[in-house]
Amino acid sequence: MKKIIALGFAALMAGATYAQRSCHSMEVLEHNKQHDHQLEQKMFQIERVTDNYLQNKANQRVTGVVRIPVVVHVIYNSAVAAENISDAQIQSQIAVLNEDFRKTNTDVSQVPSLFAPLAVDTEIEFFLATTSPTGTATTGITRKSSTRTSWGTADAMKSTTQGGVAPWDATRYLNIWVCNIGGGILGYAQFPGGSTSTDGVVISPQYFGSSSKGTGFYLSAPFDKGRTATHEVGHWLNLRHIWGDANCGNDFVADTPTQQTSNGGCPTFPKPTCGNTSDMWMNYMDYTDDRCMYMFSAGQKDRMRATFETGGGRTGFVSGTTPPPTCATPASLTTSSITSTGATLNWGTVSGAASYDVRVRATGATTWTDFLGRTGTSLAVTGLTASTNYEWQIRTNCSGSSSAYSSSITFTTTTGTVTPAYCASRGTNNTYEWIDLVRLGSINRTSSRETNGYLNTGLSTNLIRGTSQTVSYSAGFSSTAYTEYWKVYIDWNRDGDFLDAGETVVNRTSSSSATLSSTFTVPSTAALGQTRMRVSMSDASQNSCSTFTYGEVEDYTINVTATAREDISAQLENPFGVEIYPNPANTIANIKLSGAEGSNSVQIYDMAGRTVFTASIEGNNELSVDLSRFEKGLYIINITTDKGVTERKKLLVQK
Ligand SMILES: [Zn+2]
Repeated sequence: MKKIIALGFAALMAGATYAQRSCHSMEVLEHNKQHDHQLEQKMFQIERVTDNYLQNKANQRVTGVVRIPVVVHVIYNSAVAAENISDAQIQSQIAVLNEDFRKTNTDVSQVPSLFAPLAVDTEIEFFLATTSPTGTATTGITRKSSTRTSWGTADAMKSTTQGGVAPWDATRYLNIWVCNIGGGILGYAQFPGGSTSTDGVVISPQYFGSSSKGTGFYLSAPFDKGRTATHEVGHWLNLRHIWGDANCGNDFVADTPTQQTSNGGCPTFPKPTCGNTSDMWMNYMDYTDDRCMYMFSAGQKDRMRATFETGGGRTGFVSGTTPPPTCATPASLTTSSITSTGATLNWGTVSGAASYDVRVRATGATTWTDFLGRTGTSLAVTGLTASTNYEWQIRTNCSGSSSAYSSSITFTTTTGTVTPAYCASRGTNNTYEWIDLVRLGSINRTSSRETNGYLNTGLSTNLIRGTSQTVSYSAGFSSTAYTEYWKVYIDWNRDGDFLDAGETVVNRTSSSSATLSSTFTVPSTAALGQTRMRVSMSDASQNSCSTFTYGEVEDYTINVTATAREDISAQLENPFGVEIYPNPANTIANIKLSGAEGSNSVQIYDMAGRTVFTASIEGNNELSVDLSRFEKGLYIINITTDKGVTERKKLLVQK
């Protein structure tokens, strides 16, 4: 709102009318993510399909021209007759879509020579549907009168109960609602992966159609050439704004130059920003006036066509008018390999399945732990609690739709293996000094003197193999602070002692009563399941089985788990961050990760798709890439975490 007001003042001061393109697809996406917590994960899956498509272009399933049936729902204010736009105006829009997507638009000749090799025919066409979802003949146009003057961006126009028109099966039709959005907003689209009940494109009537293809149309310059629909359908086929909706942002397309922000009006070529030779302001996914946008790039074509591949979100459009097969809920559900801390969940294959969503919870708990987008027919979950009832459910994800969840399958974890009998160890006098704090993972225990100088606390925490951990501890003193020997042992191989290599994780002395910390790494070979941790504090050097005079011993339980992804307590919703700097770069580029664990692979591709660099980054460490052997140009950096999540960034190398 503030932005619109500021532009208003600018227009007044310039003494001229000024119209700025305004598309709300990204705002609607952010809103939908807030209300559909699985949307982000679904869009991640679609990004994986896109990655796979780009890396295996020779094996693409869909070739040739894809023809998209369109239904246009005109919802007009009964007091504004012009909003009930004519069939001819609608047909002019379909004609523009076909010209722009097939590169038969005459203004493509204006693409500067720098970008001309990139302008492509996307081989995607559009036609007004001739058959309705019930199989009857149709014009592909519906009309509805309303008293509403504006519809906003909350999808009311797609809801019968809110006075709008429900979409036709969005897996088989591109639904376009033409109604007055208001607020200066030209249109908005829903990206692949969202709800089928709101899927499609919304455009205000005065921006739908082209004044070049007829007279008497209800259109408003400079957005009167039908390019709003081209732009919005680009979003509907998974294209982002060309500036990546951030300062020098990422649009997930390799051949579009990184550019600083949106362009408005009709810029002059070249317009360099972010180290590029020029912004590709003539691209349909910028914000320029209709007469100044006239190309999609080859990379954008690939990204759009990937949506037609299995799991890409628009698969229903490559089977023509054949309805997609129904997406069945998996059957043959069984639970196997049940232990005190884990179980294997099994299911039967479903025809047409792209992936499965599994959810698990302790019976009676209010929230599920989701394992989304699983492939294969089993899932091993760990990190469970012994002697506890659990339930799980599963559904199938097909292209464009998901089945219902199955009914619950229940199982009970075992009581757990009998822990080995560990040797006794204690202090015989804790009058003067004792352990008053132990903190590790979810363990956080403060205490005073234990009876007989020893306690098996019974407290436990999960630790993931291969991760770095910090254990904190402190001494309580009655008056004088004595020098204490601190030992922390963990029986990693579960053989009943603390004598094996690496099982002493802390070995130090200190006379401080402050909180002390030490770090250690959980061995990648540590036995899975529950084991013992012993914290020992004595004023004289001790071993794991000592009975000593002054001090204390406390025992804890450690539950070693495999990886974060399989750990039921892990948060799957936190994508990791990647920072590339400087960018553009000429001698060195630094890659810094945040929110990452384990070993993360890095690949850098040039514009021909050749791998020019590979490395790995441990955890959140930083990697410096020597660019001396890189030629100048644009590169794509792919980072894949040990959990299989991929993030892609552009790097511009200057010389
Ligand atoms: Zn947009």
